[in-house]
Amino acid sequence: MKKRVALLGASGSIGKNTLDVLREGRDFFEPVLFSAHTQDESLLTLKKEFPEARLALSGKENGPDGIEYFGGKGLLEAIACSGADIVLNGISGADGLAASLAAIQSGADLALANKETIVMASSLMAAEAKKAGVRILPVDSEHSAVFALLEAHGREQAAELILTASGGPFRTRSAASLESIGPREALAHPTWSMGPKITIDSATLANKGLEVIEAAGLFGAAPEQIKVVIHPQSIVHSMIRLKDGAVYAQLSKPDMRLPIHNALYWPECLPCSFAHLTFEGLVLEFEKPDVKKFPMLDLAYEALKQGGVYPAVYNAANEIAVAAFLSERIGFTNIAELTRETLSHDWQGGADSLQLILEADKAARNLTIRYITEHLSW
Ligand code: MG
Repeated sequence: MKKRVALLGASGSIGKNTLDVLREGRDFFEPVLFSAHTQDESLLTLKKEFPEARLALSGKENGPDGIEYFGGKGLLEAIACSGADIVLNGISGADGLAASLAAIQSGADLALANKETIVMASSLMAAEAKKAGVRILPVDSEHSAVFALLEAHGREQAAELILTASGGPFRTRSAASLESIGPREALAHPTWSMGPKITIDSATLANKGLEVIEAAGLFGAAPEQIKVVIHPQSIVHSMIRLKDGAVYAQLSKPDMRLPIHNALYWPECLPCSFAHLTFEGLVLEFEKPDVKKFPMLDLAYEALKQGGVYPAVYNAANEIAVAAFLSERIGFTNIAELTRETLSHDWQGGADSLQLILEADKAARNLTIRYITEHLSW
């Protein structure tokens, strides 16, 4: 029997890569649901290719014939009655959290590209997944690598998780020159082709900060067990160091279709035509991240150590700051300044219900917006 797949965020970067995997695996997969935020045209095009799939448009309250579900509530309803065996969540940002919860509660495994789900609500997600008897399968390339390595070697044997980071386009720039960077420069990523939000996060190292928090949540690792190493070629996707000191790594060409393939086919390991690595002329470099120049990484460790809703606040402040940067309201280095300022507020409080997490998320967004309008004058 084919595995029934719901794909959320079908028109985005993860969505397009997932469609390649689904097309290659037509004998294995049956798409039952596609969602997009506002791109109704791309949903209708998909319907021609996969007529059995139902369609949900989360960012609009109505739209053309052929789309059955509308708005945020419509999306959750579509997930709940999709009958999917696995839901791939490729929604960008905090908007993906409620969809992840709905996927787990529907009894489907969750192939998770939306790292905010774990950053904001790791213990809630773990508890709900346990209750529903489903697995959370990471699609983030680093976590997909760590997941595979831990499965191979045993979680209890691992002493350290070592996440690689490309370092982004400004790795070699001077600290002083970062201030004048605009969105266009920051959107040109050297190794990965991704959506705008994650590309900026990659340039500030906030993406790696979010991934440190994500690794802690997914694999139950303490902050000091998670290391970050800059690896500009993006060939080694991550590593684990075992208790005996030996380091194991996962390597492939940088291509998101491999982690997507791995999550969708899990627990099987089947042939994949993407991301094959050849070794001729291959050079692999590693260096320490410059946390002075890119403070978002250290801020993430601080948020992780504080626990509770602090990681959600880190994420919310960063999302608002990145949106302001993309619309040219603030400069590149202001992203970290604003995140630090928002985090320095008192955010003590529980993170064990969706409501508490979303309240903190909203309060942090409002505070960051206030800082932008009050303190910064451009
Ligand atoms: Mg990643």
